[in-house]
Amino acid sequence: MSKTFNIAVFHGDGIGPEIMAPTLDLLRAFGHDFAFHDCPAGATSYLDCGSDLPRTSLDTARNADAILLSALGDPAVRYPDGTEMTPQIDIRIALDLYAGIRPVRVVPGMKTPLNIPEGRVIDFVLVRESTEGLFHTQGKGTVTEDYAEETLRLTRRTTTKVCDYTFRLAQDRKAAGHMGRVTSVDKANVFRAFAFWRDIFDEVAKEYPDLTADHAYVDAMALWFVLKPWDWDVMVTENMFGDILSDLGAGLMGGLGMAPSADIGDDHAVFQPCHGSAPDIAGQGIANPFAMILSAGMMLDWLGRRHDQPQMIEDASRVQTAVDACLAAGETTGDLGGTLDTRGAAAAVIARL
Ligand code: ATP
Ligand code: MG
Repeated sequence: MSKTFNIAVFHGDGIGPEIMAPTLDLLRAFGHDFAFHDCPAGATSYLDCGSDLPRTSLDTARNADAILLSALGDPAVRYPDGTEMTPQIDIRIALDLYAGIRPVRVVPGMKTPLNIPEGRVIDFVLVRESTEGLFHTQGKGTVTEDYAEETLRLTRRTTTKVCDYTFRLAQDRKAAGHMGRVTSVDKANVFRAFAFWRDIFDEVAKEYPDLTADHAYVDAMALWFVLKPWDWDVMVTENMFGDILSDLGAGLMGGLGMAPSADIGDDHAVFQPCHGSAPDIAGQGIANPFAMILSAGMMLDWLGRRHDQPQMIEDASRVQTAVDACLAAGETTGDLGGTLDTRGAAAAVIARL
């Protein structure tokens, strides 16, 4: 008997529900045995029931095989102390999702600011450690009249896990024809904490003799993202560096609108677009669904590998191919210069599957 895959679905705020609905239609079109479970969270949930991450939603997420998350939050709805809600970060911490996966692929039809030379292909993955680093003290740093201080914390446990995850990812990619190269992005020349990081990276690298492992300083990497982004395969870096480099990577694709992401731990994984809830265009049905759809494709790939379901892995690559084809043909929403609405763009992808 085939397994039912329980998927926790956070429809979210603003354009969130608008891009989630056609994404679920697309997933249903494959005929896998998915059971979708709605999880209220974010600003809408806060206004409804006083919590931006109700206990029942977190429990459903914890018990699910995978978590699909649309855009959460609304700058206009805040906690009484004025801070914005970030339930996605609470989920990341609660489920120990230490590996933030940010693929950067530039394909025809994207509004990339780069002039890409003939024959060069930009297709790399940035893995951002997502639970510690400089975000370790998040909201708990020290601020006095005279100084402010935040600490960077790296643990052997999490650094080993995130490096190991990255090498396994590079192995999977190598099997699909990529370079098989893993680059540690750090600042080991200045900070002892990053020398610690690099030593652990080197230890993990020894377990993967089939792959090439090297290092780069984060400042140099920022330069190379722009000057030779075709040189990279898979990178792994600390939380804050990853935060900054992933937006730079999204910039290469013409902005956050096309960027999918995954946050992965040992037992759980969240798949969500990089963009926010776009309150300025919410309710109009014109949001670009491609980042959400590509994130759902990443979910298929992750589930397929985890549960040994080759068809799901195959379907994941079909999603990517179909989105690429729509981009190339200009079957897109207005933000990319097309004339389709959200439903129309999603239908164009489904038609090409
Ligand atoms: P957050 O703080 O939640 O990350 P943000 O401030 O980064 O949000 P977004 O909500 O991502 O902002 O929106 C930034 C701009 O990009 C807005 O003008 C928005 O309309 C546009 N945008 C974001 N996502 C999409 C999308 N899927 N389709 C079309 N436009 C989008
Ligand atoms: Mg933002």
